[in-house]
Amino acid sequence: MLHAKVKARRKDTLHKLSTALVKEYGVIFIGNVNASALTQTRLAKSVLDASWSAFRTMLQYKCDDAGVWFEEVDEAYSTQTCSCCASRTGPKGVAGLGMRSWRCEVCGTLHDRDVNAAKNILAKGMLSRAVGTGLQGGPTSSSFAAGRGRLAEGISAL
Ligand SMILES: [Zn+2]
Repeated sequence: MLHAKVKARRKDTLHKLSTALVKEYGVIFIGNVNASALTQTRLAKSVLDASWSAFRTMLQYKCDDAGVWFEEVDEAYSTQTCSCCASRTGPKGVAGLGMRSWRCEVCGTLHDRDVNAAKNILAKGMLSRAVGTGLQGGPTSSSFAAGRGRLAEGISAL
């Protein structure tokens, strides 16, 4: 699984990234957390806000055009929850943002913070989609991946 990081980037970079994602994936879930709550300076906050919302808007209309499933997922605790055993053992709070990797003290898995968060968002999105469409036993890869190189992508805002 690929993880896409969206920070303060130029608009053409955001266009390239969103286009690449829509080409590659049949389903895209995006974290809905308000990233500004955890950024530390006023400047970083405004740049990140603008960049993130621009990216989100691009991704949504490109998904609509291409027939790719796009959904926002509540990403609360996605950075703190172990994607292997679901224990909430990850770094917490503003201080925890500086920790790029961590080991789950319950199951011992070593996580890259962003990849772990993206996995959690993807899992949450898949679950909500399975429930929302009434699929029994969860989604199947064939129904999602038609014509796409990869199954799905989760994107973390932070
Ligand atoms: Zn764990």
